[in-house]
Amino acid sequence: MRLQTNGLRRCFGIILSGCLSVFAISAGATVSYAHAGEHLMGGKAKIVTIKLTDYQGGLRRLIIDGYDIAGVDVANGTADVVIGTGSVTELKSLGLGQVMATKDVDPSQGPDAGYTTYAELTVALNSYKARFPEIMSVESIGKSHEGRDIWAVKITDNLNVNAVKPAVFFNAMHHAREVMTTEVALDMIEQLTTRSASDGKVQEWLKRNDIWIVPMVNPDGNNKVWTSNSMWRKNMREGYGVDINRNYPYAWGTCNGSSGSSWSDTYRGPSAGSEPETQAMMGFVSRIQPVLSISFHSYSELVIYPYGCDGVHTPDRQTVEGVGQHLASLLPKDGGSGTYDPGTSWELLYAVDGGDIDWYYNEHHVIPYVIEVNSGAQGFQPPFSWRKPTVEKLRAGWGYMLDRMSQSGIRGTVTANGQRATDGTVVVTPAGDNSVLGEAVRTYKIKPDGTFHVVIEPGMYKVSVQVGDARYNVDEMVGADLKELSVQL
Ligand SMILES: [Zn+2]
Repeated sequence: MRLQTNGLRRCFGIILSGCLSVFAISAGATVSYAHAGEHLMGGKAKIVTIKLTDYQGGLRRLIIDGYDIAGVDVANGTADVVIGTGSVTELKSLGLGQVMATKDVDPSQGPDAGYTTYAELTVALNSYKARFPEIMSVESIGKSHEGRDIWAVKITDNLNVNAVKPAVFFNAMHHAREVMTTEVALDMIEQLTTRSASDGKVQEWLKRNDIWIVPMVNPDGNNKVWTSNSMWRKNMREGYGVDINRNYPYAWGTCNGSSGSSWSDTYRGPSAGSEPETQAMMGFVSRIQPVLSISFHSYSELVIYPYGCDGVHTPDRQTVEGVGQHLASLLPKDGGSGTYDPGTSWELLYAVDGGDIDWYYNEHHVIPYVIEVNSGAQGFQPPFSWRKPTVEKLRAGWGYMLDRMSQSGIRGTVTANGQRATDGTVVVTPAGDNSVLGEAVRTYKIKPDGTFHVVIEPGMYKVSVQVGDARYNVDEMVGADLKELSVQL
């Protein structure tokens, strides 16, 4: 009965033929997709907090049923589910646990006016650039579906000197409703520019690195958040939208970590990398080849590292997870007890495929993290007074990424026949009793600027650099600081 009711209710908002197929699938299968996107059909919505009897099993069931999971509290084993009005009984009938709280949301009411709109962001970025022209540039890395420029900011110590430096990359707002994330990115820009003349730490970061920030990956979705639906998550493809963070090509649509239905909030899109926003990010990351990255999301107070599919860890897990765990330990929770929870998506939440960090890692050897800022008590759009404590807290997180660039690892500059090598490989293998670290052999590509930058735990390593037929082998003892290596072939 429940399935029929849901199927019929969906019919009113959707064309009839599509509706019948939804109904047929729902009635014949053990699962129903009827809940998903209900809040997108207009009217009020609720965020329901459930304490799941079986945390991971419950989350999987909610995903399979097509529910929009806003966030979780790992320590308490609760999930926040966004649903249309009248569906609480149906949610309860799944028997996944106890409903702890229900919060009404009016999606027609935009966020607190203090949060930054796309138009305000554009003005702010140009204003910083005008104040700090020597160290900051702004460029468009591509356009959204509706034609808005996606902005990327570069901050470094001197834009006029063409120095070869490693890139560190930060981005925010893949998901439109996560308005705090753009605030975190703007605070980074504020801190890195206004403190560049007075703060030795900032000067060191800017001297050593090119720092890149994309403060709003999804400007169209953000426009919708301000104009008609504050719970909007996706981009604006043909009105229904695609979840940009399920659209990246790596493992796209392979492990039940996204939806193939356009009404779902985790719709992966018609093909891998189909979306202009995704393509802009892919082209940009391919160009700058960052070493470390953070993608800011909200909410749940998590630090997530690759990979997203069930049971899969990265081959250099020791480093990826070690850095991620340290990153999480620097971020106290809003409630005052404990710090952010680190893990893969499938350990903390559920499987994710087509996410950005898996693609960065697999394609370009970036060591990437997602940080989910704020707790369920704040949600997606807390009162603007939450901005200050949130962005101040996150400084320790992104600051650690910049510090980590000069800590244990190997940075090499490769020349072959007197020229900078633009192509080649670097294989790093644990040596001697360092094998206890459990690092698998990892092959890195030499970047187009003739460098490689390997973040790795301290220990002894065999490093093998190959350009064409020429090879260079060396044993390197890596300590607490970055080891600089000049390789001539
Ligand atoms: Zn998100």
